[in-house]
Amino acid sequence: MKFGGTSVADIARIRVVAQHVKREVDAGHEVAVVVSAMSGKTNELVAWTRDASPMHDAREYDAVVASGEQVTAGLLAIALQHIGIDARSWQGWQIPIRTDNAHGAARITDIDGSELVRRFGLGQVAVIAGFQGLGPDNRIATLGRGGSDTSAVAIAAAVKADRCDIYTDVDGVYTTDPRIEPKARRLNRISFEEMLEMASLGAKVLQVRSVELAMVHKVRTFVRSSFEDPHAPGMGDFDNPPGTLICDEDEIVEQQVVTGIAYAKDEAQISLRRVSDRPGVAAGIFMPLAEANINVDMIVQNISEDGSRTDMTFTVPAGDLDKARLVLDQIQKDVGIDVVQSEGNMAKISVIGIGMRSHAGVAASAFKALADRGINIRAITTSEIKISILIDAAYTELAVRTLHSVYGLDKH
Ligand code: ADP
Ligand code: ASP
Ligand code: MG
Repeated sequence: MKFGGTSVADIARIRVVAQHVKREVDAGHEVAVVVSAMSGKTNELVAWTRDASPMHDAREYDAVVASGEQVTAGLLAIALQHIGIDARSWQGWQIPIRTDNAHGAARITDIDGSELVRRFGLGQVAVIAGFQGLGPDNRIATLGRGGSDTSAVAIAAAVKADRCDIYTDVDGVYTTDPRIEPKARRLNRISFEEMLEMASLGAKVLQVRSVELAMVHKVRTFVRSSFEDPHAPGMGDFDNPPGTLICDEDEIVEQQVVTGIAYAKDEAQISLRRVSDRPGVAAGIFMPLAEANINVDMIVQNISEDGSRTDMTFTVPAGDLDKARLVLDQIQKDVGIDVVQSEGNMAKISVIGIGMRSHAGVAASAFKALADRGINIRAITTSEIKISILIDAAYTELAVRTLHSVYGLDKH
């Protein structure tokens, strides 16, 4: 059972979480609980590290930001003990949850679940601090924002859990972010592939890495609500709890062409005009960007008219725009780029669905719908199961709602 930030936002909420845990314990299950920091806490801690120094040591960043989860793990263990449940808290290093050395965005490499399993046998609930582990340097490492989801799925895999329930402030995965489109509908099931696209294209309901792990280790993962009455009918239904099951494609009977719409704000667009067109140019541009740790997305290159010069456009996270411009300034002459143009305040809207593999015309209806609303498309990329469209961020909400209705996602 994993509980996110809003689910453990204060002591009253933590008491409700304890009741959800109690329900499962009373039903005879062995339970490991993963908690996030109280909502807003991690943002506050991150801001403090930046305030102390903009160029800080990533290991010390981790020492600071991991503390939020230490607090909630202890508090939930206390709340559980208070209602008569044997429980103890675990920090990442105590288990240990081993990670690689990428402080601030570490990946879990190994979890020794044996002590947890032994204590399950004694009837003890494990309350585990999410988002953190122990790096090869024996120092605390954190897993990147939203990383408690990944902690939960990884622990579920390590202890061979029957299920991993991700409790959050919505009661499942919706066709799009319900905060933007109130007509969004809850999906009963979504395939791993689609969830992976949704998450990586901006739907923050699950961290991308957690979906990858669930897919690889075949962890049955449910997204469900912590805000429902813990003892409401059906909440303890073991095989079919209320929420969204993330599963293999072939477990989904009724395939839709389009499953969901995701969006990502805070994108920036960079266009390189009249770039000399010869082998090695793309490498000459994108290698230095990669070395500067800039995540490049949506690369579009035109075919040059006369074989000598071409235009290239790509997107980067808005926060990396200044850094990217510096890198490009350094290589502009050598690579042969006439002009570098850039613009912040972009958004990427994506249409996702496995059914696209076998249906034509999905992209065309998106373009038509956006045109009817007067929304200009700046760049387009596609894969087998998704179409991504770059637009001005001001139109994000309108574009999401427009596409949501075009594919009939708001109809029952
Ligand atoms: P937690 O703190 O529990 O980890 P998050 O805020 O990380 O919760 O994730 C839940 C939020 O994800 C929801 O409140 C919702 O606004 C957002 N969200 C974005 N896209 C979707 C979607 N397709 N389905 C459900 N929630 C979504
Ligand atoms: N507390 C961490 C964050 O806010 C991890 C998480 O909530 O999943 O990113
Ligand atoms: Mg989250």
